Amino acid sequence: MTTNIDMTSSDFRKTGYQFIDWINDYLTNLENYPVLPNIQPGDIKKSLPSSPPENSEDFDKIFADLNNVIMPGVTHWNHPKFMAYFNSTSSSAGIFAELLSGAFNTNGMVWKSNPASTELEEVTLDWLRQMIGLPKEFWGIIYDLASSSTMHAIIAARENIKGYSIREKGFGGLKDMPRLRLYTSEQAHSSVDKGAILAGIGLEGIRKIHVDEDFRMIPSELEKAIKEDRENGWLPFCVVATVGTTSTTSIDPVSEIAEITQNENLWLHVDAAHAGIAAIVPEVQNILDGSEHADSIVVNPHKWMFMPIDISVLFTKRKDVLKRAFSLVPEYLKTDEDNEATNFMDYGIQLGRRFRSLKLWFVIRYFGREGLIEIIREHLRLANELKNRIDNNPNFKRLAPVPLSTICFRAINPKLSDVESLNKFNKELMDRLNNTGKVFLSHTILNGLFTIRLVVSGLRTEVKHVNEVWELIKSEYDKMISE
Ligand code: PLP
Repeated sequence: MTTNIDMTSSDFRKTGYQFIDWINDYLTNLENYPVLPNIQPGDIKKSLPSSPPENSEDFDKIFADLNNVIMPGVTHWNHPKFMAYFNSTSSSAGIFAELLSGAFNTNGMVWKSNPASTELEEVTLDWLRQMIGLPKEFWGIIYDLASSSTMHAIIAARENIKGYSIREKGFGGLKDMPRLRLYTSEQAHSSVDKGAILAGIGLEGIRKIHVDEDFRMIPSELEKAIKEDRENGWLPFCVVATVGTTSTTSIDPVSEIAEITQNENLWLHVDAAHAGIAAIVPEVQNILDGSEHADSIVVNPHKWMFMPIDISVLFTKRKDVLKRAFSLVPEYLKTDEDNEATNFMDYGIQLGRRFRSLKLWFVIRYFGREGLIEIIREHLRLANELKNRIDNNPNFKRLAPVPLSTICFRAINPKLSDVESLNKFNKELMDRLNNTGKVFLSHTILNGLFTIRLVVSGLRTEVKHVNEVWELIKSEYDKMISE
């Protein structure tokens, strides 16, 4: 019989201090690490044993492997010069919340299985709703990721179609019904397509609406597409607008789109996964104009609100429809409080739920609304300054407006005029920059042009980091030109 149970209290304390010291050193010295690891696929696996240990191992040994084997393969999302994709940076308050969530290890399936997580979720989501300026009718639920939030919204939209009981009959049981059509822009995130796949709509059921020169959905094109589809026997049911598209952070004209969805009686979902949090800043809160008419909207606190991945929030005015789509209560999950309290399992595919609201609670309280506004406002200012520098430098060209803090640009090479060579040149510039380990930038394609994206939304990014990155971009460019 083994006596090898969990750590003793004194070992826990000792190891805990070691861990906190380690994390503190890590966060303090982030800038000494290359943002991107310099390794090849398979390198980490090669350094790990292929079979599990038979016997208990000392934590000192595990620590040593963390430093020697794992660290060389970590991409440092918390690094102040991580400017790729959309940032996700963790604040100390967020890290402590994750630690506690693991310690409690509660499962908030129903109110009874953890009343505190259920009620804290209700309260903190209402705080967040107020902070981003959504009306009172919006009710929120935490999921893991925006991809899940959008999938749930699409399935709720499907449930909302009158006489179309897919939940009961499945698509196979509705043979004579028209095919469903969902609309979103050409610039929408792939999670919309995935949500539609999971909802059984199929990729053919998605109609991508053209965008204008600023990458925003064109409402008249949407209107035209819906009309055409109705004439051709499709059943339009949902529009997904984006506030802050992934490539350029363009903002679809949600008010105009909402007018169409109201006239056509379609569900309107707004994907504001990254940008929605910026609405905390009063002077840019208008990015959510029109979203008050939406049926649902997703925002991701883990992207721009300084808490560790993952936490995504779906706000909806149609809580009843979401429940109709997902609620299924087996005997073993019934409780005496079912009629008085919220059971979050009724509003989504997952039964078990982590205590994610702790992250919101800690972070909002630690920074305060004002503190969060100040940090995000500084990101907007830094990005705007950099945008001006790019605009004033003849060697670079900006390829999209900068409504928030994402800059899309590319380098010009006077010796190259054809699109393909210039695309290659820009890809090489980005790769060289990333290979320095001093910055991580990502890319997109805009109108066929390879475009470098630079995002300023990391908690630790300050003016000096943006300056260093700009100097680095110019010097790598100069080197390439002179070669
Ligand atoms: N929507 C938008 C606009 C995004 O930019 C992203 C990711 O960057 C997503 C959705 C998907 O986010 P998640 O990784 O939380 O599923």
